[in-house]
Amino acid sequence: MLKLNRERGAEPSGGRFSTSVPLYADDSYLREFDARVVRAGPGFVVLDRTAFYPESGGQPSDTGRLRHGSRMVGVLKVLRRGADAFHYIDGALQEGAAVHGVIDWDKRFLNMRRHSAEHLLSGLFERAEAGPKTYSDLTRLEFKPSDLTEDRLRQVEEGFNEAVEADILIRTHYTAREELDVGGDERKRAFLRKIPRGIDMLRMVEIPGYDLTFCLGTHVRSTGEIGRLAELELVKGKKGRRVVLFTLD
Ligand SMILES: [Zn+2]
Repeated sequence: MLKLNRERGAEPSGGRFSTSVPLYADDSYLREFDARVVRAGPGFVVLDRTAFYPESGGQPSDTGRLRHGSRMVGVLKVLRRGADAFHYIDGALQEGAAVHGVIDWDKRFLNMRRHSAEHLLSGLFERAEAGPKTYSDLTRLEFKPSDLTEDRLRQVEEGFNEAVEADILIRTHYTAREELDVGGDERKRAFLRKIPRGIDMLRMVEIPGYDLTFCLGTHVRSTGEIGRLAELELVKGKKGRRVVLFTLD
């Protein structure tokens, strides 16, 4: 778990990674929004603000649609390119057009549940001393070779379902980069180094008592919304890695 040298209150977010104001950063439950096309190209548009989450950090991009007057185009994928969020569409829209965006909510909400589960599991496996995590996404966590046993896996499963039962609020706040102390964790140090220099306020996501980490993803409001685990399985990965697969109810 990351440690903060000093707690900071919540501060307004902004386009820290993107000139397209990321509405999903302040409200991950926003399903519809109004925006303007600030750049249009073959098969894509950039909007001045967006609730569409661009693919990042193991969380896939949103899909949905954009309405302009009586016309409707599908949003197939959203990628962050440099400072902008590129919305890849199956039609054409002009620069300056006012649009109403609607995201595919069922898909997004499932992603939010799975991604929040990934946070909770990361914290629980750290507590179970599973060893350094090398990768994680919405269905798996990978660890360096370690003595992670089936017994510890069952402990983690129990801890997970307890946290879901306790319905703990998931908090988001911003902290200055220099106030973050990742200790000797080389993976977290490397991760911090990859964040562009201009970004000095980091968005921290905390499941109090379980996990605290820098993250730009979308999360559910509380652990109760994640739901219980359906499966938690330990398998062998390449080069002796320990791989944990998970699915939710
Ligand atoms: Zn996250």
